[in-house]
Amino acid sequence: MVKKLLLGLLALFALLIAVVAVNTLRKGSRQLDVPSLSVLAVDEAGAAQRLGEAVRLQTISSRDDAKLNADQFRQFHALLEKRFPKVHATLKREIVADLSLLYTWEGSNPAAPAIALLAHQDVVPIAPGTESDWQETPFSGDIKAGYVWGRGSWDDKGNLMSQLEAAEALLASGYKPERTLYLAYGADEEVGGTRGAAKIAALLKERKVRLDFVIDEGLLVLDGILPGLTKPAAMIGVAEKGYLSVVLKMSATPGHSSMPPKKAPAQLP
Ligand SMILES: [Zn+2]
Repeated sequence: MVKKLLLGLLALFALLIAVVAVNTLRKGSRQLDVPSLSVLAVDEAGAAQRLGEAVRLQTISSRDDAKLNADQFRQFHALLEKRFPKVHATLKREIVADLSLLYTWEGSNPAAPAIALLAHQDVVPIAPGTESDWQETPFSGDIKAGYVWGRGSWDDKGNLMSQLEAAEALLASGYKPERTLYLAYGADEEVGGTRGAAKIAALLKERKVRLDFVIDEGLLVLDGILPGLTKPAAMIGVAEKGYLSVVLKMSATPGHSSMPPKKAPAQLP
């Protein structure tokens, strides 16, 4: 009886393999044949220079003081206006909640759903006393050995400036988008985004804007992160983690984590 059952299962398994094999051969590849777009020439040296200028502005945000470094943020806005004249002549720019920016690039087809690209203007502070640990001064913006150095080159002015570089180059080429594109640049992302991103989102909601998709800061292109992969890997993040701030209180004999007691306290109060 058991033998019969096993044979029956084996036969079913063999049938499954046969069906999958036949279907695989019959269906063929579903890879879409997408023609590649013509590539715009990129002014690499110019883009690096402009990113360096952006990095030099110390746009450090603060959770408690909305006005902290407001002059640096305003200088940053002025720099963008100066360096991306076509963007500022064509796109509508709004200053939201004093320091955050929302650009609207109107599409030619009002029925096409809009999209948004996000980035943030602010950077995190330099921990006091660590200035000398930096290979280059934290806000140098210098270009050396093929890199732009300084806080924000990656996170996230590199992203912000790339978007505007692309928009400026596309405008120069005569490109007109079919769908409306929003560029949203908060000034307080590193401290929660309640003054910037949240206000921009509320504004878009009030205007009944429904976005087809949003592309945010994203991840890096990294070397050597996967064994056996010799080429750089572009990390694609498809979700956003939330966060939780907690205050933990417990009473126990004080000590050091390098010398833990044999038995940890049985329970938290
Ligand atoms: Zn960031």
